[in-house]
Amino acid sequence: MSHLKPIAVKLTKVAEKAVKQGHPWVFEKSILKGKESEHENGSLCVIFEDRTNKPFAFGLWDTDSMIRIKIIYLGTHFTLDKDFLKNRLEIALEKRARMLRRVTGFRAVHGENDGFPGLILDVYANVGVLKLYSPIWYPYLKSFVEIATKVFKLGTVVLRTSRNLSKDKEGEYVEGMIFGNKLTDERVKFEEYGVSFYAYPISGHKTGFFLDQRPNRYWVQQHAKGKRILDVFSYVGGFGIHGLKGGAKILTSLDISQQAMDVAKENLQLNGLDTKKWRPIVGDAFAEMDLLIQGKKKFDLVIIDPPSFAKQKSEIVPALKQYERLASLGAKLTAEDGFLILGSCSSRITLDDFKHAHQKAFEKENERWKLEKVTLHDDDHPVSYPESLYLKTIVYKKLLTRR
Ligand code: SAH
Repeated sequence: MSHLKPIAVKLTKVAEKAVKQGHPWVFEKSILKGKESEHENGSLCVIFEDRTNKPFAFGLWDTDSMIRIKIIYLGTHFTLDKDFLKNRLEIALEKRARMLRRVTGFRAVHGENDGFPGLILDVYANVGVLKLYSPIWYPYLKSFVEIATKVFKLGTVVLRTSRNLSKDKEGEYVEGMIFGNKLTDERVKFEEYGVSFYAYPISGHKTGFFLDQRPNRYWVQQHAKGKRILDVFSYVGGFGIHGLKGGAKILTSLDISQQAMDVAKENLQLNGLDTKKWRPIVGDAFAEMDLLIQGKKKFDLVIIDPPSFAKQKSEIVPALKQYERLASLGAKLTAEDGFLILGSCSSRITLDDFKHAHQKAFEKENERWKLEKVTLHDDDHPVSYPESLYLKTIVYKKLLTRR
């Protein structure tokens, strides 16, 4: 599939052990042999065990990243061919089989966790959106798309690339390019537990929709009857629309993006929901929640699912302050007996630290809350190594306040 020359590699003892235990990353500084000369992105690395001088793992070379080698296979013999890709993709499909009875939007390939480092494939009905975070797959991309199209029964695959990604050598692949059938509409309709959504594969954030909160959106649908809902960081309406579908009395959606709010309206209409029950607010979450508090507004279900606040280590402490502030604002807006749902998509924030930030907020408010439920990743976002656990969502119930 590729004419690149393989690279013979040896690692430090610590790195060799980590790879044997299944960790998919090898940092530049852990490479003892193999980096003397220059290599092309995507070259196959054959990693030799120090003691026996026999191969024990295989990876792909990434000149762009501190994580210089991404492991794709553990074992003594390996060929990166179409059979390998097909087998890997079929395993990925199998892992998701259960959920596919009730959803047509799902993450088909979740990077390292499905054996494809730096590669995401999200599927919306028969459209796949392939998001690349690393150039290592360029030499194999044509085969990957061909096989993924068959395995996931796709008509179209859209390529999206991350901003810092170097181009492929031939300049063959560009952001937004389409494989297969042309898209007749820039949006694609898909289903999620009885709710329909439009994803915008070419212009939307990431791959066009945030699939990861699906189980929590469904929970909201099941607990929404007769409720007043506030959906903060609502993007294209996800949580709140599930709520209306579940019989909510009224929905307030809050997001800073007018464009996202316009799509939320489309999504409401797509589901035949009554827009008279909907109050969109476009503005900053912190400021607008303050205004709602000043207006003495209360909600029975408050969802706060912000973007990642801690993209680097140095941001952890300020991020925890933001989570605490959001919990505090959300607490003030939740009616007694109501639910507050708090999400974090920062992998650097641990579940314990996240909970701790909430406890601090609740104590300051002098309120009692019961932790109702914690959810992590759904089946289509498997976690195979610690750094890939990013999503944490907690449902709290507000108990009667001390008087
Ligand atoms: N809950 C959504 C996903 C949220 S993504 C879902 O289930 O689909 C994060 C959203 O936060 C984006 O839509 C972004 O526009 C919005 N956002 C970012 N900063 C904001 C701010 N300061 N105030 C309000 N919204 C903000």
